[in-house]
Amino acid sequence: MAMFRIAIIGAGPAGYFAAQALQNAETEELKFSIDMIERLPTPWGLVRSGVAPDHPKIKTVSKVFEKIAADSNFRLFANVEIGSDITVAQLKEKYDAVIIATGSSLGKTLGIPGEELPGLISAADFVPWYNAHPDYVAVNVPLNCDTAVVIGAGNVAIDVARMLALEPSELDPTDTADHAIAVFKTSAVRDVYISARRGPEHAAFTSPELRELPKLEHTNVVINKEDIDAAIVRAGAEPEKDVKSNLDAMLLIAESQKSEHERTMRFLFQHTPKQILGTERVEGVVYSTPNGDVTIKCGLVITAIGYQAAGIDGVPYENGKVVNTDGRVNENLYVVGWAKRGPSGVIGTNKSDAAAVVELMISDLKTPKATGDISELLTHQVVVSQSGWQKINEAEVAAGEPLGKPRQKLVKREELLKASQK
Ligand code: NAP
Repeated sequence: MAMFRIAIIGAGPAGYFAAQALQNAETEELKFSIDMIERLPTPWGLVRSGVAPDHPKIKTVSKVFEKIAADSNFRLFANVEIGSDITVAQLKEKYDAVIIATGSSLGKTLGIPGEELPGLISAADFVPWYNAHPDYVAVNVPLNCDTAVVIGAGNVAIDVARMLALEPSELDPTDTADHAIAVFKTSAVRDVYISARRGPEHAAFTSPELRELPKLEHTNVVINKEDIDAAIVRAGAEPEKDVKSNLDAMLLIAESQKSEHERTMRFLFQHTPKQILGTERVEGVVYSTPNGDVTIKCGLVITAIGYQAAGIDGVPYENGKVVNTDGRVNENLYVVGWAKRGPSGVIGTNKSDAAAVVELMISDLKTPKATGDISELLTHQVVVSQSGWQKINEAEVAAGEPLGKPRQKLVKREELLKASQK
């Protein structure tokens, strides 16, 4: 029997699905011991700090993660940062293979004048702020304006626009960070624009996300029917299935729009951002459109135009991704998920992606030669193990229960570490 020691860096969906693929590949002769290393005191990655809090169903995948973690050959080392606490080179020495699953945490930039003004925030900062990520508590989200603009036509833009346009009490039964609910409740924002630089037929939204918008109970959702009619013509007689499904969903919104609510979400198409206006802070966005320049006055701009991976020392990066061939980076180093292929696909996409990389990795593994494990390298810091995380998890769920929330998230690192040791 051969037992290989594998380190996975990053406890998000891609990391867990890589662990699951390893577990599924086990036979009588082939076994894996898996150490998952995570920078935060908590695992689950985007399922905890990315998925919108009003989408609890999507978060049920965390049950799968916990099942993977329950295996006796799986260990969690959370609150351990690669780079400062331990290096990739050290891990490569200790383990038979190392899998990077660190995602893409940085927001792409527009590269237009005025982008540096206060009041423009990337979704890469705004989303973890409302999801209680410890590193984003201090993000300043100015909601003391009547109009907000979200730039981008993907599912993150929809999530962000929905969070801005919901009646804030709708967030009470969710796991939105307390600090964010408090700020949303003071929000003066009543008009939220989502702007796409191309036509509806090119939008990156997926249709389930569009189809839930008319169900919002306290928000008008407005799409110009002419925009969709023209897109249907441009898409031709046989549009791709996803395009047709999106156009159908958008047509439904355009044909059934409400106007009785105080809050409105509006879609703009063929609006390419040209300049962010303002002196002290954001005052508007200038767009170039087929009908000339158009200015939307606003006090808040959120960019939701995609992500790129943050670098890790000792790992080659290019174009916001880890340089790799089918997930292989270099000798005994592999990459999965967004760090491998860029920020695309839904959570489930990472399952087949990780399985393919693990298959390749197994074909590379010859004989076990690992010489130890991460615990020998970590002597001075508080490490959150799987049982430590379970204590945090139980404390959060218990705190949320009387409030009708799935959990009340702890936010500060010190609080999380304290809860992990109770
Ligand atoms: P995305 O789907 O790639 O969408 C990015 C959008 O930004 C596109 O509409 C793109 O337009 C636009 N864009 C890029 N650069 C721009 C620029 N300079 N100016 C104006 N617009 C620009 O990315 P995402 O929304 O960040 O989502 C990432 C992934 O997570 C996606 O696969 C998404 O489906 C997934 N996700 C899923 C859910 C869910 O299932 N509920 C929720 C959130 C995210 P062009 O097409 O013109 O480039």
